Amino acid sequence: MAQLIKGETGEWEMVIGLEVHAQVTANSKLFSGASIEFGAAPNTHVSLVDAAMPGMLPVLNEYVVEQAVKTGYGLNAQVNQTSVFARKNYFYPDLPQGYQISQYDQPIVGTGKIEIDLPDGSVKEVGITRLRLEQDTGKSVHDMHPSKSYVDLNRSGSALMEIVSEPDIRGPEEAVAYISKLRMILQYLGTCNGNMDEGSMRADVNISVRKPGDEFGTRAEVKNVNSLKAVHQAIMFEAQRQIEIIEDGGEVDQETRLWDPNKLETRALRSKEDAHDYRYFPDPDLLPLELTDELMERIKSTLPELPDEKKHRFMESFGLSTYDASVLIAEQSRAAFFETVAEKAGDAKLAANWVINELLGALNKAEKDLNETPVSAEQLGQLVARIKDNTISGKIAKDVFAEMMETSKDADSIIDEKGLKQVTDTGAIEAIIDQVLAANPSQVETYKGGNEKLLGFFVGQVMKASQGKANPAMVNEILKKKLDG
Ligand code: ADP
Ligand code: MG
Repeated sequence: MAQLIKGETGEWEMVIGLEVHAQVTANSKLFSGASIEFGAAPNTHVSLVDAAMPGMLPVLNEYVVEQAVKTGYGLNAQVNQTSVFARKNYFYPDLPQGYQISQYDQPIVGTGKIEIDLPDGSVKEVGITRLRLEQDTGKSVHDMHPSKSYVDLNRSGSALMEIVSEPDIRGPEEAVAYISKLRMILQYLGTCNGNMDEGSMRADVNISVRKPGDEFGTRAEVKNVNSLKAVHQAIMFEAQRQIEIIEDGGEVDQETRLWDPNKLETRALRSKEDAHDYRYFPDPDLLPLELTDELMERIKSTLPELPDEKKHRFMESFGLSTYDASVLIAEQSRAAFFETVAEKAGDAKLAANWVINELLGALNKAEKDLNETPVSAEQLGQLVARIKDNTISGKIAKDVFAEMMETSKDADSIIDEKGLKQVTDTGAIEAIIDQVLAANPSQVETYKGGNEKLLGFFVGQVMKASQGKANPAMVNEILKKKLDG
């Protein structure tokens, strides 16, 4: 799956490590009681702590700690019983304290790993280096006034998980698959909503290039890559840039670069030479964080079934393909919806087909989310059950389904009202067949003369005469008997 880039001197391999910042789902900030609601009027969710008023002291949010521990377990990672909050010192207008409270060499979560699903159907493991709990900054707003900048501190002090990967990623597809899987895990855990549009999940991309088999090259860190599309574009641009430098006899600078989503290029932000010395030191206002065994055990025992476990269960106990299982587990609510349909229908494979191809297809066309579906899981389950028990054919089911999407009525009501029940009464089917044969004497002659292809024609006529309601298998059988006998 590793994607190589052809240069003038041969093929190049990309080496990528990602730092993802994920906002912790909680009611309040990491060290204050202020709300973290998105989209509020500027500076309305700012406590004295978030504004860094003199003398204010941080009070650790216990729920946020539990969320980080939960995430650690969800990433198959080492959860550290003791961790330390440290000050990372730097000046920026949207950082009123003059430092960010983060963690340094003793983070709450250490090494772990996740499995990523690649477009060719293969699976790859990516190592997690660590997860740190830290404060988010405020936001500088530069585009509201021609000569002034504004500062909105609503985000200041919100809890972030900085999740760092090992340099195990080998191209843009893998990077996108990594972020997608990470987001899915966090959403399942309920520890981050994964909303990249609202900045709840943001990625910094570290990238270098090398000839396959060589040592790692010098990396550049690209900031501000805030959509999956941008991750893909930024990696391709940056790899190409580095290859050109090296092939021209130059050297890649270890530097921080910024992704410009309008110009579709990266540009230098700061180089290693003027890199910050953050003067990290343990925050004297906060004691080392000690997790009790009881808390760790409790969180471990309440972990939900995670995406990969669910995928494997769907494949093993329902016999679904990797593809179908992956589509169904992409969202927890989608998986739960499917399980209800499958149970009600009594046939998981048929249920998977209907959820993926019919329901998701129709919702997609109507530009609706699953939570806006006019057809409930129970209702869809009933419809599929009627196919399964031969009350209606799959073809008629599609018409019934279209009406359900329109009216939100139950399948059984529609089948009753419209008299769509499949005809399985031998006598009734025979009567229709006799009519059809009597009306088409020349075709009967031709068939008897050896043109057996005409059977399809008769089946079609009978189905038409029965308005699609005759059981097709019985029609076939009785027709053959009459024509051949
Ligand atoms: P720092 O603390 O300076 O940011 P880290 O060692 O924590 O450095 O690495 C940051 C990120 O860079 C990690 O995601 C890591 O996987 C990635 N990384 C490290 N070395 C390379 C490299 N040579 N090429 C690409 N990515 C790298
Ligand atoms: Mg870094």
